[in-house]
Amino acid sequence: MLQLLVASSNAGKLEEFRLAANDESVRIEVLPALRTIPAPAEDGASFEENAILKAIYYSQFAPGHIVLADDSGLEVDALQGAPGIRSARFAADSGLVDSPDANDNTDVWNNIVLLQKLEGVTERTARYQCVLAAARSGRVLATAAGSVEGVILEAPHGTGGFGYDPLFYLPELDQTMADLDPAIKLSLSHRGRALEELLPQLL
Ligand code: IMP
Repeated sequence: MLQLLVASSNAGKLEEFRLAANDESVRIEVLPALRTIPAPAEDGASFEENAILKAIYYSQFAPGHIVLADDSGLEVDALQGAPGIRSARFAADSGLVDSPDANDNTDVWNNIVLLQKLEGVTERTARYQCVLAAARSGRVLATAAGSVEGVILEAPHGTGGFGYDPLFYLPELDQTMADLDPAIKLSLSHRGRALEELLPQLL
């Protein structure tokens, strides 16, 4: 069985990785003692660079194990691709909150900032992007990317998911990401698609 240690403290991402681990060929666990490890500066210029730098960095704390890192975010066409790699820090960058924190209302503030920036904008197409990187003992083993297209609503809808999900509308399904059953979200999401491409490279 393939064992992966996820280097992420984002509760939403972890839920989705746990769900993916229902598959019997893979066991996905959180990297032990993740909270005690200082976070690296995510100063890459792309999702891929950030995913790789996180995977390499965190894999040094669990030698011999495969460590999985996720860098993901939302690209809005009318905002020239913003917030992009700054998705977790969108409100912080606007000076609304100090720093992202899984236990505070960062997601709520990020959504408020997004709605403000899109006020009066009719062209609201967007996509989620995700790059996953797997590394062992400081060396990259594999990377994979996934994306999903959607439209940003004018008001949130749905209670599931995390981050921008209540505003991310899927026209074909007539539902937001936050309306979807978690397994359905994973089956069509940027993260689910990236995982689908990554796992065969590691098995
Ligand atoms: P990262 O931890 O630097 O990769 O930042 C990821 C950020 O992108 C999250 O904090 C969310 O704001 C956003 N994001 C990524 N994936 C999703 C998703 O599946 N749903 C909603 N927001 C997401």
